[in-house]
Amino acid sequence: MADMETVTMADDGDFSKDLTGGTSMADAYGHSSILCDVLVIGAGFCGITAIHRFRKLGMKVKCFESGSGFGGVWHFNTYPGARVDSEVPFYQLNIPEVWQSWTFSERFPGGPELQRYFEHVDKTLNLSKDVIFEARVVDCSWGESELLWTVKTRQGHQAQAKYLVICTGLLHYTFTPDFPGLERYNGELYHAGAWDGQYSVKGKRVAIVGAGSTGVQITQEIGKQADQTTVFVRRPSYCLPMHQRQLTVEEQSQLRPYYPALFKAGRQSHAGFPSERPQHGMFETSAKERTQLLERLWEVGGAAFALNGYNDVIFDPNANKVAYDFWASKVRRRLKDPEKRKIMAPDKAPYYFGTKRIPLEYDYYEVLDQPNVSIHDLRSAPFKTFLEDGIVTADGKLRTFDTVILATGFDSHTGSLTHMGLRNKDGTDLKDEWKEGVHTYLGLTISGYPNMFMGFAPQAPTALSNGPTCIEAQIEIVVDMVHKMELEGVRRIEAQPTAEEEWKASIDEMVKDTLFPFTNSWWNAANVPGKKAGNMLYVAGIEHYEAACRAKLDGWKGFDVHH
Ligand code: NAP
Repeated sequence: MADMETVTMADDGDFSKDLTGGTSMADAYGHSSILCDVLVIGAGFCGITAIHRFRKLGMKVKCFESGSGFGGVWHFNTYPGARVDSEVPFYQLNIPEVWQSWTFSERFPGGPELQRYFEHVDKTLNLSKDVIFEARVVDCSWGESELLWTVKTRQGHQAQAKYLVICTGLLHYTFTPDFPGLERYNGELYHAGAWDGQYSVKGKRVAIVGAGSTGVQITQEIGKQADQTTVFVRRPSYCLPMHQRQLTVEEQSQLRPYYPALFKAGRQSHAGFPSERPQHGMFETSAKERTQLLERLWEVGGAAFALNGYNDVIFDPNANKVAYDFWASKVRRRLKDPEKRKIMAPDKAPYYFGTKRIPLEYDYYEVLDQPNVSIHDLRSAPFKTFLEDGIVTADGKLRTFDTVILATGFDSHTGSLTHMGLRNKDGTDLKDEWKEGVHTYLGLTISGYPNMFMGFAPQAPTALSNGPTCIEAQIEIVVDMVHKMELEGVRRIEAQPTAEEEWKASIDEMVKDTLFPFTNSWWNAANVPGKKAGNMLYVAGIEHYEAACRAKLDGWKGFDVHH
């Protein structure tokens, strides 16, 4: 256990007073117990933000991280082509000492550069001393008498904290569908979320299952390297052109003085990127003007086509059809093979545009169009069975493969929270409680879990936002709540079940007139069969969300508060 501190519990329960030095508390196996004000779980963007902000409050913070390094999804997702879809400067921490001394090399940084960024963050903020790596949390229980959370890891660590802050993200637990015969396949088999960095596909026949954000990126790279690639697609993604480019040191130096204003504008925006949309609907303008705007946004690249287009695309099926048709006409031109065109950009949209995560790409469609890349449409012929060396589909076709890559996504939103032995004050595991559906208050707390907070969890703007911006807003609220508790001498807060019901009703109300509910995907947790699906998102945007949460803090609305 690197640099783990052992401390003695202060007699009066005031942990901010006496947390250094003292004798260690050891369990029956001789493991020392950490005592801190705040225990953070997870050391990605969210966990780091929490550690930094709680330290600033003068609190003693420790963190358990299951991986061996910082970065969360960027630590675990090392598959070829991994790259972020949020552009510089927005995809980084709004911490001046960190951004003043860091320069990215591309508009959309790749996985290895993001890992180097996290090393820089660690060095700059001296984070490692408070993080225990390779510490997978398996048990979290609340002690009502001592008003403390006790958290244990699989590796034997134990910590006790007054506040528990869970920062485990939406996309940690990989999801492998129950494909018939998969256990029989004895070639190389990888889930993209658990890639072997040493593995080369050169000279190999590779199957890629999935065409979400991960499938798109992995196909874009593997398709160039492997001998033969077959992509198994159920629904195509509606990818937008990334328009990647190199960034110079000079242009970032020139832009840096404006970062505070840009980050602030991100916080005051819908999705974390300052952006403007037309103030009128798609059909309140001439067809010519409409096409001009769509063309212009297409040229800007990145998420502009989705963020700066007409707002009614997400409400009105007719406006949505215009967006889809425009998109499809662009993509069809890049696919010469008519069969591939039919699968990837069909005449009739398989789902509404923008209701499922839109990935960015640079030469995905050119790679798909290569003669050594085939696309199999799983909607017309699903998997029949996997064999020792290949796959048979329902049309009777047998294909043999050296390697199968599953880009089949994650047990999204709830996967981490329901796999860490997180139990409420009565001892019931969250995984049992949430079987019938997720309940949170503000997407930040859960009734039955006193003094516990979450960042980047269900029922918040998460998946529709730039991650670091949403996280910053959420963690600042959490830190302000804890600060308020300390100032007011509040020893315990807990969300009320009725407040959770109201919160759920309010977020469901926001989404009901949109086209989101018509599409199933990980966004509504419908990607894992048997799991209770439902609206997991706060669709009204970060600024609106933050205001709604802050309005509850004054007077602790919706909380039971004990002094
Ligand atoms: P995903 O979006 O859930 O995609 C999973 C893919 O597997 C889909 O194509 C899905 O098909 C397919 N699939 C799932 N079950 C299947 C089954 N039983 N049979 C056939 N196909 C099946 O997962 P992901 O691609 O890993 O992406 C998850 C999220 O991670 C993204 O939406 C994004 O937020 C994040 N991410 C971000 C980046 C980035 O910033 N660039 C990169 C990667 C991931 P259907 O679509 O038909 O369900």
